Amino acid sequence: MTDFCTIAIDQGTTSSRVMAFSDAGEVIAQSGQEFPQYFPQPGWVEHNADEIFDSVCASLSSVLESLGHHTPCAVGLTNQRETVVLWERESGAPVAPAIVWQDRRTADYCNALKGEGAEADIIARTGLLLDPYFTATKLRWLLQSDPALRHRAEAGELLAGTIDSYIAYRLTGEHITDHSNASRTLLYNVETATWDDTLCALFSIPQNMLPRIVDSAGALGTVKADAPGAGLPLTGIAGDQQAATIGQACLEPGMAKATYGTGCFLLANTGKALIRSKNRLLSTVLCSLDGVRSFALEGSIFVSGSLIQWMRDGLGLLSDASESEALAKSVTDSGGVVIVPALTGLGAPYWNADARGAIFGLTRGAERAHLVRAALEAQSFQTHDLVQAMAGDGQTIHSLRVDGGMVANTWLCQDLADILAMPIERPSIVETTALGAAILAKYGVGRSDDLAAAATSMTRLETRFDPTRGLQTERESRLARWRDAVSRVDGPALGAL
Ligand code: ADP
Repeated sequence: MTDFCTIAIDQGTTSSRVMAFSDAGEVIAQSGQEFPQYFPQPGWVEHNADEIFDSVCASLSSVLESLGHHTPCAVGLTNQRETVVLWERESGAPVAPAIVWQDRRTADYCNALKGEGAEADIIARTGLLLDPYFTATKLRWLLQSDPALRHRAEAGELLAGTIDSYIAYRLTGEHITDHSNASRTLLYNVETATWDDTLCALFSIPQNMLPRIVDSAGALGTVKADAPGAGLPLTGIAGDQQAATIGQACLEPGMAKATYGTGCFLLANTGKALIRSKNRLLSTVLCSLDGVRSFALEGSIFVSGSLIQWMRDGLGLLSDASESEALAKSVTDSGGVVIVPALTGLGAPYWNADARGAIFGLTRGAERAHLVRAALEAQSFQTHDLVQAMAGDGQTIHSLRVDGGMVANTWLCQDLADILAMPIERPSIVETTALGAAILAKYGVGRSDDLAAAATSMTRLETRFDPTRGLQTERESRLARWRDAVSRVDGPALGAL
């Protein structure tokens, strides 16, 4: 009997990884490669899409050589979202740097549009917010930066897309993007599931340069003869956070996952219902299967693991991030210290770009361990605020699945359970993003009857953290201290300083 495996390409912000999963979800082979980051001006972040593609091909070749007796049956693709690439239709060569999701160069333009009162209509059409984070204003910037590019775009010589679109084009020759990626561009009408004429006109984007929007699973293309994996079908595509939600098998409405890496992304499956947030959360497409879309509510925390990094590299309080666990356990509480990690502003549900971080409650007795414990506690508090905002929007969450580099910290997982007062579930494979792409691809190639069956066969829960009994009063007082601290950072008093 042949042992089949599914290949997942996980194209991230700092590295590209390729993983091969067995039908039971075991990792058979993996390979990854970092690629250069370019910071040409403060606030600008660029990638070279050619270098990205090369890193994908190198990792893919390496994995294909290490499969042993397994036969690859399909490729799934997941990617850093919102980053825009502009390339030549004829050659596939990029004609400008890729502008990365972190890039803030269009902030003034976004503020000017807000000043004109354009945001409400943009929110209504896209489910997003008017922010430089999303793709449209970056693509507009590229086309405005050089009249020759605009001319060539209008003549049909140039194509544009997010990273999934570029990799798919170079691998298969198809100019496509899936609904989950399209829903992050600020050009996609979340009601009609098509590119929005009004928004394309507003951002001066010729629609003929945009990809065809396709399902997240199915026969999406075939790898070309000159690429690694020639002849393999591409059968799954999703943006990284949506893929991680699928990789955590959060396939029913009300199921949610949070990924704790540099920042934190919390997505709750809202099923077939597109929920409009009253709390500035994002309404986004989770995936599209057989022409039917599922949706998610998304909230992000800007600073999560990077707070621990800052304590390690900026303050020298830790020699290694993992040391934070033993330190947090070494004290019975944070000694009254509360950290608001607004180092780069406050994300959802506050959305205060001007807020800055603060440490409250310092006494002569405050030690390194108290500060580190407070930094971990801040993750629980911020997650609590997101979960509460989702509940305010009508999406109650009963348990949370977690992944990302930070959840190696078992103390943090237990604190999350205690502060959220709900079970926290941690899977055995923490590479949930790649796993999600493999699950989509397995379903898309027809090796599972439905997505749930594919997810069930490939995912496994490792540990469940239940809330500790009898902590209600302590929880309330900790949350009260947090709310007080956030209000001081978010409120007008400090902002005026
Ligand atoms: P990303 O994918 O965003 O680069 P990762 O998922 O690799 O991030 O997670 C890395 C982050 O997790 C780092 O910011 C690091 O400080 C933090 N981290 C790693 N291990 C631990 C730990 N045991 N306890 C707390 N934080 C950790």
